[in-house]
Parts: sequence; structure tokens; C-alpha cells
Amino acid sequence: MKAEIIAVGTELLLGQIANTNAQFLSQKLAEVGIGVYYHTVVGDNADRLYRLIEEAFTRSDLIIFSGGLGPTKDDLTKETVAQAVHRPLVHDETALERIVAYFDRRGVKMTENNRKQALVVEGSKVLPNDHGMAPGMAIEYKGKYLMMLPGPPRELYPMFTTYGLPYLLSLISDQYVVHSKVLRFFGIGESALEEELIDLIDGQSNPTIAPLAKEGEVTIRLTAKAKSITEAEEMIRVIEQEIEERVGEFIYGYDDDLLESVLVRKLTEQNETVAFAESITGGLVSHMVTSVPGSSAILKGSIVCYTNDVKHHLLAVPKDVLAEAGAVSEEAARVLAEEVRLRLGSTYGVSITGEAGPTASEDKPVGLVYIGATDGTQTQVKTFRLSGQRTAIQSRAAKHAIFTMLERIKKGGF
Ligand code: ATP
Repeated sequence: MKAEIIAVGTELLLGQIANTNAQFLSQKLAEVGIGVYYHTVVGDNADRLYRLIEEAFTRSDLIIFSGGLGPTKDDLTKETVAQAVHRPLVHDETALERIVAYFDRRGVKMTENNRKQALVVEGSKVLPNDHGMAPGMAIEYKGKYLMMLPGPPRELYPMFTTYGLPYLLSLISDQYVVHSKVLRFFGIGESALEEELIDLIDGQSNPTIAPLAKEGEVTIRLTAKAKSITEAEEMIRVIEQEIEERVGEFIYGYDDDLLESVLVRKLTEQNETVAFAESITGGLVSHMVTSVPGSSAILKGSIVCYTNDVKHHLLAVPKDVLAEAGAVSEEAARVLAEEVRLRLGSTYGVSITGEAGPTASEDKPVGLVYIGATDGTQTQVKTFRLSGQRTAIQSRAAKHAIFTMLERIKKGGF
């Protein structure tokens, strides 16, 4: 099924709002394996919209419209669609009752133009609007499917999720099920990952392989279409195994996992604890970890050792190390990790020290970060050159600190 999304609204063309409805719909359709081939934005103009629908009929099987279902004159999507499928508009009693009730609840008198919102294209399946007035519609016309959804995201998102998507799935479900799994990567860039998997990506058909880079992480969504979920899972497992053989060291989790939730889960399983000495991240790592329910079982505590004074007095970094190598140094990172572990009595100690910028303070380049990690027998210090603005460097440093621990847990040693 080839899909296309048409967003109607002059405010989109004027740049007053971004087309987030198309983004949402594309994501949802990709998750169930329906390919979106075009996003189009058209103003509130019946002629241009009509011509666009004619064009969409020539290239798409499913056309989803967003916006233009409201009561005002410039809301003309359903009138134009009705014309394009050669069907009249008729009153839908249920929709009208909902609209009357909507005004009653608010104690506001209903104006006549609001009746217009209860008009639907004859023969369409009405999609109820649980968060507003204008109902959505799904129409079959000459082997094509059209779906109209209201513009406001707080109406469109739930309508599509609750009524639109199940309807689309019912159209394709007697043929196959669609199932996906997300692999989550850290420590490898999107292009490096793609290079490792280029033959798989180029040759993909079913399962599909969709990489996505976001906030320093990369995900790959594997989506299979099959006769049953078990069959789809098996197809995904085969390709996943191939990916794991090549770049498994960078996979930290699956589906909704986060670096910090995986850390909490793994340490809980092993009955182990961690403590952080945070300089450059200023408490960010601890915040990430403590956002995960159950983190009190694994996080002993942290010391935000922002100044040299605190690094020296609370975590025993020798004055000569601070004076010669500096607070942003391999030596300082080593002592910080070892001392925070000893002082807080945890299984592991992790330190993060670096230069977040915008101006460097110790003659060190902005983005230079050292992450120390110790299990009491071995201590490892890794050096990173991170790019981006101050908060991006801090966020990446925090993620690297957690990933360093995950690597240690996976390998059983440094
Ligand atoms: P209404 O009954 O509110 O008029 P409608 O279905 O006619 O609903 P529009 O008038 O086209 O929808 O848009 C209403 C509001 O919804 C817009 O002002 C905007 O805030 C939001 N909106 C519309 N289209 C989009 C879009 N593609 N992406 C994100 N938001 C949108």
C-alpha cells in the first residue's frame, strides 16, 4: 500500500506552524509497514486541493488528509474530497448529537455553521472525534482509500491511533501482520553503522531496515510482514542476528529501552551498585539514573565535584595533579572514579570530567572529556572529543558514562 499525506492549511505554507501531523502520521504508518511516498502541503484553496487529489489518485493507494474539517468557510477539505469521489455530503446523526452535546457541556449556544461539522461524505466510515467536534472519515473509492482527519494535533493523534490505524490494519490484516523491533545503538554514528550494514540495507525488502539518528544515539527499526506474529519475529530474528554479529558491541537495548533504564536493570540483576563523581555533567548522570523507577537499589549516590576544591577535599585528587595535569585529565578522572567508589561504598565508581565550553578554562579544547570507571580491581579512563554546544556536550558525556558502565557489565571486565 503506497501512502501519501496531504496537509491542508494556509498557516502551514506561511510557516506559522510546522507540519507535525505529517511527521506523526508517517511515524505511525512506518511502524506498521505502510510506506509513505509523498508529503504535500496545500493552502485553503479548493481548486488547488482538487488538482492535488487527482494527482494523488495517480500515484497512491492511501491518501490521508489533515486539517480543513472545521466549521469556517476556509475549511473545505471534505467538500473538495466529496467532489473528487463524486459523492454528496450528508448529515451524520451521531456526529450531530456529539456536537450538540459538546456545546451543551460547555453551556454555549451552538451556531448554525457548526452543523456543517456533522456533514460527512456519503458512504464513508465515520471516525469519532473524542477530543473535538469535527468527525474524521474513511472512504473507499475505486480501489483507493482516503482518510480525513482534523487539523489540531490533540484531536488528530488520538483519532488516528484509536480509530484510523485499526481501520487501516483491518484492511490489510487478512493478508498479513506487521511486526517491528527497534535495536538501540550507542557509541557508533549513523554513517559508520550504515557502512557496516550497507549490503543489508541495500538488499532490504522484508524485513525492512530503517536507521534513525537522534540525540547522539542511533536506532534501527526492523519491520517484517508475515502470516503470523511468530513468523514475523522469526524473520526479524534472522536479520537481527546478522546485525549483532557485525555491530553487536554497540547495541545496548531494544524497543523503549534507555541507556539508564538498561543500567538500572542490569545492575539490579547482578545485585551491584554504582556511584558517580560528576564534574562536567553537574549531576545530569545521576538525574538520568534516578528518573528510572527502582534506581535506589543500584545508585549509592553521587558527588557533584564541580570545583577543584571539592575534587581535592571530598575526593582526594592531589593538589599537584590538579595543578599540573589539571582537573580535565586522565589522572584526575582516575582518582575521582576510585575515590567516589571507596567513599560511597559501591561496586563501581564512575567519573566524568571535561571541558563543556563555550570557552576553555584549562588550555584544554572544548569537548575534551575523560570518563573514568573502576570496579575496585581495574580502572579504565576513556578519552572523548565531543562536539556541539555546551548542553549537547554535557548530555553526550552523560550518555557515554552510562554506556561505559554497560560495556563493563557486558564484558565482565575493562
Ligand atoms: P478546526 O475545527 O480547529 O478548524 P480543522 O480540521 O479545520 O480544525 P485546521 O483549521 O486546518 O483544522 O487547523 C486547526 C489547527 O490545527 C491549526 O491552527 C494548527 O494549530 C493545527 N494544525 C493544522 N494542521 C496541522 C499540521 N499539519 N500539523 C500540526 N498542526 C496542525
